[in-house]
Amino acid sequence: MKKNNKPLKLTIAHINDTHSYFEPTSLQLNISHNNIDYQPFVSAGGFARIASRVEQLRTQTSSDGFLLLHAGDCFQGTLYFSLFKGEANAELLNELNPDAMALGNHELDMGNEPVGKFVREIDFPLLAGNWNLSQEGSKEYPLNGHPNVYHYDEKEKTAQWIEKKIESERVAIFGLSIDKMADIANPDCDTSFESSLQVARATIRAIKRSGINKIIILSHMGYDADLELASQLEGVGLIIGGHSHVLQGDFSALGLASKDHYGVCVNGTYVVQAGYHAMMMGRCDIEFSSEGNITQFIGKNELLVGRRVFMDVDDDVSSIPYEAIRDKVQSHPNVQVCRKHPLIKQIMNEKYRPRVKALQDQKVTTLSRTLRHVRLPDEHGGSEIAPLVAMSFVHTMRSLGHQVDFAIHNAGGVRNSLNRGAISVADIAGKLLPFAVPIGVYQIYGKYIPQIIEGAIDNAIGNGVIGTGSGSYPYTSQLEFHYDKDKPKGLRVSHVKIAGHSLVLDKIYTGSSSAYTMKGKEGYDAILNMMGNGTVTNWSMADCFIKLLSDKPSVVNRVGRDNIGSILK
Ligand SMILES: [Zn+2]
Repeated sequence: MKKNNKPLKLTIAHINDTHSYFEPTSLQLNISHNNIDYQPFVSAGGFARIASRVEQLRTQTSSDGFLLLHAGDCFQGTLYFSLFKGEANAELLNELNPDAMALGNHELDMGNEPVGKFVREIDFPLLAGNWNLSQEGSKEYPLNGHPNVYHYDEKEKTAQWIEKKIESERVAIFGLSIDKMADIANPDCDTSFESSLQVARATIRAIKRSGINKIIILSHMGYDADLELASQLEGVGLIIGGHSHVLQGDFSALGLASKDHYGVCVNGTYVVQAGYHAMMMGRCDIEFSSEGNITQFIGKNELLVGRRVFMDVDDDVSSIPYEAIRDKVQSHPNVQVCRKHPLIKQIMNEKYRPRVKALQDQKVTTLSRTLRHVRLPDEHGGSEIAPLVAMSFVHTMRSLGHQVDFAIHNAGGVRNSLNRGAISVADIAGKLLPFAVPIGVYQIYGKYIPQIIEGAIDNAIGNGVIGTGSGSYPYTSQLEFHYDKDKPKGLRVSHVKIAGHSLVLDKIYTGSSSAYTMKGKEGYDAILNMMGNGTVTNWSMADCFIKLLSDKPSVVNRVGRDNIGSILK
């Protein structure tokens, strides 16, 4: 091992879970002034503000000891993703010029191909050190061996890492993603994820053998997993994380939820995470000793905001201490007022915003009354929207040529009620069904269908199991059932009808659900009895729902309290 390692100073800026939030978010704060609470809005973050702040920090840092890192999950989230998939992310991230990005689970929601395209468009390395690509079959956009992908090295059993040379001293950075990726996303089945802990241990040994003793992990494993990893490892200075949307630091005076102080030190390793949706950025100045330990750590998460503060005003405007509130926001130690970088603004305006704007405004249908969404049925009935969403799966999959008999959709996939009046694409894709999870079809014996329903409801109401919450409650189309919570397990679901006919146990039916549900999560285990793995399309929930409402705009106004299956013919 090389013995002449030197001390090193570094400034690191980091973001995570940006989820295509290139535009600023209108963020509501809670500010207390003279014992009265005010709820002003600020324009928070966005890529144009991140770019300015990064430019500022880069110029302030004398040497080349500045790194910008992204801890994963840039895909999904907004219409920019629905419309442009990874392309807009690649172009706008390239403008930020990060030194590396970790692979997040949402990058793999639609299989490997979108990542394969993405890595061909980015100018920076994608770190996925525990992603084993050695068995990858032949594909149009292969990932194995692509120069921008730093994946698992099957031969060495380590992560591939990048090296940054700063004043003749080298720092190694490698990436780790969630071990159980296949449980929460859709990586192709010929690519798997290795144990992050084992990979980390082997990689640290290999990095040290190469003469480097300053190590940073860029992680998309989640906050608790990062803290746990720090407690298990020796020799890592910093773990920069994402996935949990944890905002470290004290933001209570702004009314924002935050956790811990910035830079929790576990076993000599500092763990940081910087919120979500490109509203915040973490920055820290660190000093490595010649032995590779962090001897100085100063930093914070910054909420990047515009100069103006907005108030909803109902009554007497003059009674609002506008300037005092604005000063309170802007003098907060974790708030950074930031102009928007003209270059990012220009790219957005010229290339992406017009199509997003046009789509947002496009009217899909008009509701003659409010449609209510609840997760669990109550005395007023169940969700009026989730069954329609399930119906849209049947409608869309049939239009693609799949002879679908029924659809099941979990209540948690629908986010809100729909108000009376015009419904735009933005209302659906941006708010009602914001998760671009693809919809699939599968074939399954009738005997398993009651088990699927029972498992999902048991999980939703915690009936004899420790459930994961009401979000798993199943809403259906072309599928009726009766559930009795007091019956013994296995007998709670009865009177099952598919398209109005009694269920035949040994008949094979074709069902449709989201790829998420098809993985048997949240009580849906019985769905795994499907034949093979089913087929996942590239239609998202929002795509299906928009198609149903566009093809049959009046369907929403025919929703009754009873079965809506008969509408679909
Ligand atoms: Zn994530």
